[in-house]
Amino acid sequence: MPQQIVKRRSRGFICVNAHPEGCRRNVERWAEAVREHAQPAARPPRNVLVIGASTGYGLASRIVAAFGYQARTLGVFFERAPEGEKTATAGFYNTVAFHALAGPANLFAASLNGDAFSAECKRAAAEIIRKQMEPLDLVIYSLASPKRTNPDTGVTHSSALKPVGEAFTNKTVELDSEKVVSVTLAPASEAEIADTVAVMGGDDWRRWIEMLLEEKLLADGARTVAYSYIGPELTWPIYRDGTIGLAKKDLESTAHSLDALLRARCGGQAQISVNKAVVTQASAAIPVVPLYLSLLPPALARRDFGEGPLEQIERLFAEFIAPETPKPLDDAGRIRLDDRELRTEVQEEIMSLWPQITTENLRALTDFAGFQREFRRLFGFEVEGVDYDEPVETDLRW
Ligand code: NAD
Repeated sequence: MPQQIVKRRSRGFICVNAHPEGCRRNVERWAEAVREHAQPAARPPRNVLVIGASTGYGLASRIVAAFGYQARTLGVFFERAPEGEKTATAGFYNTVAFHALAGPANLFAASLNGDAFSAECKRAAAEIIRKQMEPLDLVIYSLASPKRTNPDTGVTHSSALKPVGEAFTNKTVELDSEKVVSVTLAPASEAEIADTVAVMGGDDWRRWIEMLLEEKLLADGARTVAYSYIGPELTWPIYRDGTIGLAKKDLESTAHSLDALLRARCGGQAQISVNKAVVTQASAAIPVVPLYLSLLPPALARRDFGEGPLEQIERLFAEFIAPETPKPLDDAGRIRLDDRELRTEVQEEIMSLWPQITTENLRALTDFAGFQREFRRLFGFEVEGVDYDEPVETDLRW
């Protein structure tokens, strides 16, 4: 087996490789934390499908379901396997690490690396659930993708992260040069709006649930939860009121129709969970958001509200999914995990710093260093305890 020293390689801000040992430690750290916090639950999920299970919120969901509630999990994701000298993507190594922990713990785990938007991938998932699992009681939908090929038309839609209606000017940090600059984003065209909704809206989620119902693979009372974001007014022109926000509104209206369908067919439920902003591969790609993500964690940590994807999802399961009596939903029927992010005092602090930030004081006024570190950690770099001068096996499989 070839071993090699893996140093971080970047194209611009993005890491183009991943460190298997760093990824393993990340997953292990999350699994250990979940095990430590595990509590008996009235309605623990037993058979869980996580769509988008290899990184970010989906990985956190899979780890919480498995190590917090002993659920059997099927994870679906789209990652690159290692090839020769080329490392795999982080999500691939995360999955290797997940399986390495699940096996000895006697936790059934199956993983499907493919395009979740395709009919073929849905069929393969159905086959695994039918043959190796029991009907699902929970389906988590946590995809973040820049494009989607519609299985009916064969047309590939690419999402555009743009404002809608009018141009939006604000400051952002250029991630490569670390310059704080003013950026003006032109409004999206009708086609770009439609494409973004086609990629990140509810159509694919609906297809998954309809397929599972059709195949009789949902248990009585089965639930499905998809993740959304609202965020503060500061980011609304590019997020909530922008193309991605329209896609999320489509996802939210899909939740209503899926909820009615599930209630009628299996006494189930479909819900939206509005999560907080966290550093993931997906969120770093949105203009303005990285600067916001350099201010939010210190403002939360100062008030003892610090949470990453794992803590958010632990809260989701403990307070909304597994208890006999879940916590109340918001007026629109959504689960809210972004309550701490949106607290007035947290947002006031961010808003008071925002106009002052310049290239020169970026690192003094914000935790850009923390954002950068967190981002690199997603790829297994700058992880505590890993010796990056040591050769590691990169050709791993689960
Ligand atoms: P992420 O980039 O960490 O994860 C995306 C997942 O989707 C990965 O597992 C990836 O392999 C998978 N994926 C992408 N394309 C796929 C395809 N074609 N087929 C199969 N799998 C595919 O993203 P994330 O930030 O964890 O986002 C997950 C969800 O959470 C999204 O709906 C996002 O809008 C939502 N959310 C994110 C934030 C945030 O700040 N990151 C906040 C609130 C809600």
